Amino acid sequence: MLEICNLQKQYPSPDGQTITALRLDNLRLERGEQAALVGPSGSGKTTLLHLVAGLLAPTAGTISLDGQRVDALREKERDVWRARNVGYVFQSFNLLPNLSALENVMAALVFARVERERAARLRAMELLRGVGLADRVHNRPSQLSIGEQQRVAVARALANRPRLILADEPTASLDRENGRNVLEILQWLCREQQSILILATHDHAVMELFPRRIELARAVEVSADAPADSVA
Ligand code: ADP
Ligand code: ADP
Repeated sequence: MLEICNLQKQYPSPDGQTITALRLDNLRLERGEQAALVGPSGSGKTTLLHLVAGLLAPTAGTISLDGQRVDALREKERDVWRARNVGYVFQSFNLLPNLSALENVMAALVFARVERERAARLRAMELLRGVGLADRVHNRPSQLSIGEQQRVAVARALANRPRLILADEPTASLDRENGRNVLEILQWLCREQQSILILATHDHAVMELFPRRIELARAVEVSADAPADSVA
């Protein structure tokens, strides 16, 4: 279960003031739950995903995954924790350009040290087959279509069977058909693995596909005080 209490993130602004970028009082998501994260541009969607992924530390509040405090992880523990527990899908895919589709997916497995190379290769093949790319595994990202690249990114994000999948506008650079296709794959894999999925979007057609919504209001307010902490 993912549990968030009284979460707040402030950033220092260039002119020495404080920007409150996000406020979220309470959120609980059980294993297997899928939620759309919605709110206008600047309401803190990316900030929330970064906090939950342990990429940023909150100014106040707590985030726990299955009882473990994500916000309290020490810097040294964070990368390993993230590699094992979190799959992140970006709007712009962020695939490694010099690696093939297969190597991109394998890299996630090997980095998290969950699998040896042989097992990682088999698992990566299985996943790429699952997303319909069995005959594209040796292509580099530049040799794949946009829709195919995002399917590789989805396979990579889910490779470790992470408990948490975070997706930041994953269909925004895709056309309707590819977007729908990527979403179906993402939701299907998450269901199958009983992962928690949080997907940021401002597309109404995408929101409709989710049983739950997390709505953020624009929390941005500027105050003259220095922030209680700085960016992690
Ligand atoms: P969204 O993803 O909903 O568009 P963001 O999380 O990107 O919202 O941003 C929320 C607010 O925080 C915005 O006002 C943005 O300008 C501000 N913000 C985001 N990152 C930083 C940063 N590193 N430093 C200062 N302000 C930031
Ligand atoms: P997208 O196209 O999905 O928005 P980006 O690559 O542009 O993906 O990154 C989204 C946000 O994540 C940006 O605000 C960027 O500053 C931030 N970001 C990218 N990489 C990292 C990282 N390694 N750690 C923290 N923030 C990052």
